[in-house]
Formats: sequence, structure tokens, C-alpha cells
Amino acid sequence: MALVKCENLTKAFSTPNGEEIAVDGIDLTIDDNSFATILGPSGCGKTTLLRLIAGLETPTSGEIYYDSVRVTDKRPQDRNISMVFQQVALFPFYTIRENIQYGLKYVSDLSSAEQNEKVEEMAKILDIHELLDKKPGQLSGGQRQRAALGRALVREPDVFLLDEPMSDLDEKLKVAMRSELKKIHQQFPITKGYVTHDQEEALTLSDEIILMNDGKVVQQSSPGEIYQEPNNVFVAQFIGNHEINLIDGTPENGQISTPAFDIDVPEQLAQSIASEATDGVTLGIRPLDVQVVDDPSDALFTVTMQFFEHMGDSLLVHAETPSLSDIVRFTIPEVAEPMDGEQYHLTFELDDVFVFDQQSGEAIT
Ligand code: ATP
Repeated sequence: MALVKCENLTKAFSTPNGEEIAVDGIDLTIDDNSFATILGPSGCGKTTLLRLIAGLETPTSGEIYYDSVRVTDKRPQDRNISMVFQQVALFPFYTIRENIQYGLKYVSDLSSAEQNEKVEEMAKILDIHELLDKKPGQLSGGQRQRAALGRALVREPDVFLLDEPMSDLDEKLKVAMRSELKKIHQQFPITKGYVTHDQEEALTLSDEIILMNDGKVVQQSSPGEIYQEPNNVFVAQFIGNHEINLIDGTPENGQISTPAFDIDVPEQLAQSIASEATDGVTLGIRPLDVQVVDDPSDALFTVTMQFFEHMGDSLLVHAETPSLSDIVRFTIPEVAEPMDGEQYHLTFELDDVFVFDQQSGEAIT
């Protein structure tokens, strides 16, 4: 098992339109035995970063270490890694036993009896023991996925890299496999790098989330921290089930004034805003943190419902107020459906509000 470290890692591809910088000077560490998810929008460089860590791409510049060993120029087969990709590439004419055993092909000195023992042990852990003599075509998608994990894990790699391994599974199976993967990580606490663009997967699976945008790491934090303490507006917008409300405001005299309401800010925050905000500020309020109150005098502002969405156990209401150009989103219990044009009096706690510099988008704390 190994800690993975990238230092000022850059990968530029030459394309007919010029140079494409897929990974742009990344510094990061994935701790020994931890489950790190590389998350971000399509094209931000997740797969390239994973392929660099695996040795499947050569960096344009920068270094990669496994523990203190420099592996930047090492071939994948010399790094003791395993990888699982989006498409489960099991050999269709091999049995599951043979497929898993293939994972031991490059592990030198095991007798065939020892190999078989390892395969059986792995299959028991993954609950595919009964399926060992079947061919991949006779298995369900989830069972095939487990067999692929078995083949990758049986050789006991130092680093296990997974690139969107669940994106071909249907939603229900994905959720089931998520729990499986979590269990597997407890049983095999090998350092894992897991690429996904699905934030729910990232939030539920990982010890750490590495959020990328445009070839750079914008935040590396635990799932709780990245949700509760986003570094900037991009992180706040990307993480969270419902799109965050962003409202521009102007700080003055210990208050932030927006076109819809004014709020008092505590002394310390007012000082940070005074020293860090270049122009105005942007307030970020998650829909779940907006409260509906009965009495307008307890509210900061009042909005009119435009439409709503059923979220299962709640409704997500989209509403507007003449003073704000953007829609305001908040949730209400799934009891009575709102009527057309229904008005809501809204408030929120300052503790639940993120304050960003309007120009740079960086968080002010
Ligand atoms: P997705 O979620 O859509 O898979 P990603 O975040 O994994 O995207 P990458 O596949 O790493 O992103 O690609 C990052 C950027 O590098 C993209 O603009 C992509 O077009 C470009 N890129 C990736 N591989 C190559 C290549 N072999 N040659 C040229 N450009 C490439």
C-alpha cells in the first residue's frame, strides 16, 4: 500500500487546434489506504490525472511518487497498480475463475494451487463464489462488475485506480454497488483513486474529494468539509443536490445589502469582507437552508412561486421576487402542493450563508 504524491504535474496534448492542457500544475497527495475521488465536470482532466498516476500517460512536466519512490517514468506494470475502467473488460470466453486468475498473471512465484486458493478467497469475499465456473455473459451487470473488481484486487496492488466503473450500471444497481465498494474498501483498505463526475458517488464513497476544474484542483477536502466549507463559488455550485442560491450584495456599515434584503454581519466577518472583498460580495445559500416562515415580519423577503419539483420526500420550489434577477430555490415538506402564484416569506441563518468575493469568487471567512 502506498501514499500517492503528485508535484506540479502537467499534461499537455497537441491537437490540430494547438495545445490542450488537460492537467495544469497539480500538487496533491492521496494518503496511504485512503479512498480519494477525483470529481469534476466533463473534460476537466480527471481521466488524464488518473492515467498519469497509473503510468498510462507520460507527464509533460512534474513528478509522481508512490511513498518516497519516484515513479514518474515507470511503466504501469512496474508500479504495482490495478485499474478498473468504465467498460468491464472481462474476457468473454474465460470463466470467472480464469478471469480473476488472470489478475495474478504477472505476480511471479505463486503455484497454481496457491493461485486457485487466492481466487477462491477473493470470490468468497465478493460473494461471487457460486459463479466461478460461469462465463461473463451468464452474469448480471453487478456480478460482472464484482468479478472485474476481484480480478483487479486479487494481486494485492499498492494503488487501485478506478475510472467511472459504475457509469454503465442502471441507477438502482449503481446505488447497490456503491455500498459494495464501501464494504470492499473496508476489507481491502488499499489506496484508491476513483474518477467520477457523479457528486453523490463522491460524497458517499470517499475519505477525500479532489474537485477539479479546467485542469486544476480547486479543492481537496473530506466530503463534509467540501460541502460545508467550499473554497469558492464553483465548489459551492458543483457540490450539493440542489443548485445553490447566489445573491450579489454590497457590504457597508456592518451589513450586507442586497436588492431584496439587508443582513447584519458579525464584526469578524465584516472585517474579513473589508480586507478581502475587492468589490461586492456574493452570498451563497443552499435551498435546504432557506426557511419558510408564516409571519412576514419574521422574514427577510417574500417570493412568488413559479414552479416546483417533486424530490421524493420534499418539494423544491422555484420562486421569484421583482428585486432579484435570479430565481430563488428552497425546499418545503411534501404535504400540500403549492398553488399557482403562492407567496412564501423566507429567511435564513447567517451561519448557513457562504460569503464570496464577487470578482474572484473566492470564499471570505
Ligand atoms: P470526462 O468526464 O468527459 O471523461 P475528464 O474530466 O476525464 O472528462 P479528460 O478525459 O482527462 O477529462 O480530458 C481533459 C481534456 O484533455 C479534454 O479537453 C480532452 O479533450 C483532452 N484530451 C484528453 N485526452 C486527449 C488526447 N489523447 N489527445 C488530445 N486531447 C486529449
